[in-house]
Amino acid sequence: MKTEKVILVTGGAGFIGSNFIPFYLERHPQTAIVNLDLLTYAGNLDNLKEVEDHPNYQFIHGDIRNRALIEELFERYQFQGVVHFAAESHVDNSIKNPGVFIETNVNGTYNLVDVAYRSWFDEPFQVKKAFENARFHHISTDEVYGSLGETGKFTEETPYAPNSPYSASKASSDMIVRSYHHTFGLNTIIANCSNNYGPNQHDEKLIPTIIRKALAGEEIPIYGDGKNIRDWLYVLDHCEAIDSVFNYGNAGETYNVGGDCEKSNIELAHLICSLLDELKPKKDGSYSDQISFVKDRAGHDRRYAIDSSKIKKQLQWKPKKDLESTLQNYLRNWLLMFN
Ligand code: NAD
Repeated sequence: MKTEKVILVTGGAGFIGSNFIPFYLERHPQTAIVNLDLLTYAGNLDNLKEVEDHPNYQFIHGDIRNRALIEELFERYQFQGVVHFAAESHVDNSIKNPGVFIETNVNGTYNLVDVAYRSWFDEPFQVKKAFENARFHHISTDEVYGSLGETGKFTEETPYAPNSPYSASKASSDMIVRSYHHTFGLNTIIANCSNNYGPNQHDEKLIPTIIRKALAGEEIPIYGDGKNIRDWLYVLDHCEAIDSVFNYGNAGETYNVGGDCEKSNIELAHLICSLLDELKPKKDGSYSDQISFVKDRAGHDRRYAIDSSKIKKQLQWKPKKDLESTLQNYLRNWLLMFN
């Protein structure tokens, strides 16, 4: 790797990371990326086929819970930055098995942020000259803020009130990262984003589940009354936001990133079904006929909505993609690949 700098990306074989790596390598030809990923059920190297031979890219199969490995990687590559995606990310799994969420999301983040601090600093607030611009960017979620009523949006000042083991583990990791800025002077950024959608998303998540079940002729399961509202952000719009915040955001600050696209789960299911009705009509009826309400998720947050005015004003970022037309393209590609 003969570049100006090397950054560590964790969890790069997952959904968002595997969209981010090719995007970032293309935009920043002077930056090399080392991707550290454990390849859990959620990670897949096929997601990164287009960059596997890229001269500025290297994959390391490993665990962010393994402190000795992280120390060895910081020593070997002299990272000038970290973009930390690696996490257990599925709320339903955190209800069944919370332990691994604490180990990976909390302890794993602690390992990374602590090794970054010890590698880049001589003592608190005394950064080594070679690492003056080194930054730790932590990817987090709007779920740390809890649930909204019918009005209002989460801002960067909204108090944390996580409700699931997943969001509690992410909130904990955000707090650990925050403390390394305040106590030690580490150059940190936390970005809390809404629900992403787009290529490479794991089958277990809502949009791929709706599409898979619809095309298989099976019941499309929707939790509770279907009126839980989420904000939807296209994954490459999110990658643009990460690029802006990582390179130009203010140290120690948080940035909320949303898609300005609130939809209830039932609206989303009907939208996908109507798009499928056009692209691959059923012999009789609509895919919507397959929608079936199932027992609600325990502790299911009612509504999330993000106020992204800070990143819009400060960094001139805004979401570009419109949900309906982007989903239409996504579904066209899905049908070409899998049907
Ligand atoms: P994902 O589940 O698709 O991918 C996670 C990746 O992390 C996988 O490649 C997995 O192998 C890897 N990983 C898991 N445990 C690891 C460990 N111990 N060591 C090394 N690698 C490990 O997740 P995603 O949807 O791409 O989310 C990425 C980040 O963004 C997460 O931190 C998540 O909390 C956050 N986030 C995601 C969304 C979303 O809508 N997907 C929304 C808000 C925030």
